[in-house]
Amino acid sequence: MRNKFLIISLAMGSLSFSQNQVDSTCVGVTTKGISCKIKVNVDSTKYCHYHLDNKVFNEIKVKSIICGENTAKNTPCKLKTKDSSGKCHHHRD
Ligand SMILES: [Zn+2]
Ligand SMILES: [Zn+2]
Repeated sequence: MRNKFLIISLAMGSLSFSQNQVDSTCVGVTTKGISCKIKVNVDSTKYCHYHLDNKVFNEIKVKSIICGENTAKNTPCKLKTKDSSGKCHHHRD
C-alpha cells in the first residue's frame, strides 16, 4: 500500500519536472540583429509569435487610404493609395 503511493507520487513528480524543461527562447533574430529573447514552448515551435511569420515582423504594414484630393470636376478623388503623402498617383505630380 505504502509503496504504491510512493511510486505514484514519484511518477507524478518526474512528470511535472519534464514539463518545466520545455522552456526555451525563440531562435529568431530581431530587426536590431540580436537574437530574440521571447520564451517559447519548444515542443510546438521554435519561434515566438513575432517570428512565426517573418514577413509580419520585418515589414511595416502599409494601409491603403483614399486620396481625397479634389478632381477637375471638383469632387473628392476616390482612388486608393499606399503612398506616404496620402495622395494617389494622379494628384502627386
Ligand atoms: Zn522571436
Ligand atoms: Zn487622387
